[in-house]
Amino acid sequence: SAKAAGKRQWCHYRPALQAGLVERHELNESLDEAIAEAAFALYYQPIVDLISGGLVGFEALVRWPHERRGMVLPEEFISLAEESGQIVPLGAWVLERAVAEAARWQRQTREERAAGGRGPLRVSVNVSGRQFRDAGFVDTVRRALDQSGIEPSTLVLELTETVLMRRDERVRTDMQMLGDLGVQIAIDDFGTGYSSLSYLREFPISILKIDKSFIDGLGHSQQQYALVEGIARIADTLGVQVIAEGIENTVQRDLLAAMGCPLGQGYLFARPLTTDQAGLLVQEDARPAGLHIGGR
Ligand code: C2E
Ligand code: MG
Ligand code: MG
Ligand code: MG
Repeated sequence: SAKAAGKRQWCHYRPALQAGLVERHELNESLDEAIAEAAFALYYQPIVDLISGGLVGFEALVRWPHERRGMVLPEEFISLAEESGQIVPLGAWVLERAVAEAARWQRQTREERAAGGRGPLRVSVNVSGRQFRDAGFVDTVRRALDQSGIEPSTLVLELTETVLMRRDERVRTDMQMLGDLGVQIAIDDFGTGYSSLSYLREFPISILKIDKSFIDGLGHSQQQYALVEGIARIADTLGVQVIAEGIENTVQRDLLAAMGCPLGQGYLFARPLTTDQAGLLVQEDARPAGLHIGGR
C-alpha cells in the first residue's frame, strides 16, 4: 500500500524521524479509538481551604489508561489531540463526566455543607485553546449544565493566558456568553505565559491560579514571595479569587494563608484521586467534624 511504501521510504532516508512519525500515527489512531469508546479516566485533585483544611472542590484531570503504555498522562497526549482536533470531542467528554460527578457529590452533601456555612462543592475543568475556539464550545458547556442540573457558578473553566492573548472579537463574545451562563472562569498557570493583569479587567474572570513554579520558591526566595504576595493583593483588590497550585509543604501553605491566599491544591493535601477515592473524601469532609486535609 501507499502507506507501507511511505513507511519504507522514511525508513530508508530518515530512520530516527520515522520512529517518531510512526509512533505519533499509532498514538493518534489509538486516541481516536479511545475517544470513540470514551476509554479515558478522570482523576480529581482536591482544592482545599488552607486555613480550615476543608474541601472546596476538585480539579478534573484526564488520564488515558493504555493497554501497552500504562496510565498515560495528559502531557503526552493533550498537545497531540489539540493538533488533530481530537481535543474537541475529548474535552466535551471530560466536561460532561466532571459535571455529572460533581452533581452527584453536590446532591450528597449540599445540606451538611450548608449547615456548616459552606457553599456547594465546585468542579474545575481544563479547556485548551483549540477547544475554546471551536464554534460549538459554548453550546457544549450549556448542554453539560442542562444535563447535570448543577448550579452554573459551581463550574469553573480553566483557560490559559494564550487563549486571552488573541483578544479578537470571538474571544470577547464567547467569554461574555460564558459569563452570562453564570460559570466561573479561571486563568490557569498564571505567571508562566504572557501574563497581563489587564485580562482581569477585560474579561469576566473570577479566579487566578498561580502556577506551581511560583509556589516552589516560597520559603526560600524573597523575590518569589514578593511576587506571589503582590499578585494575591492585586487580585484581592479586583475581587478575584486566588488558588495556589502545587503546594507540597506546610511552609508554603502557611505563608500563603498568611498573605491572604486562602485556597490551594497540591501533593501536601492530595494527589489526583480516582472517582471512588474522591467520593469518600467528599463524604468524610461533609461530616460535622469535617476533614482537616494537610495536617490542620
Ligand atoms: P494543570 O491544569 O496546571 O494541572 C495541574 C497539574 O499539576 C496536574 O498534572 C497535577 O497532577 C499536577 N500537580 C498538582 N499538585 C502538584 C504538586 O504538588 N506537585 C507536582 N509536582 N504536581 C502537582 P496533570 O494531571 O499531569 O496535568 C497536566 C496538565 O495537563 C494540566 O495542568 C492541564 O494543563 C492539562 N490537562 C489535564 N487534564 C486536562 C483536560 O481534561 N483537558 C485539557 N485541555 N487539559 C488537561
Ligand atoms: Mg488546570
Ligand atoms: Mg494549572
Ligand atoms: Mg500547570
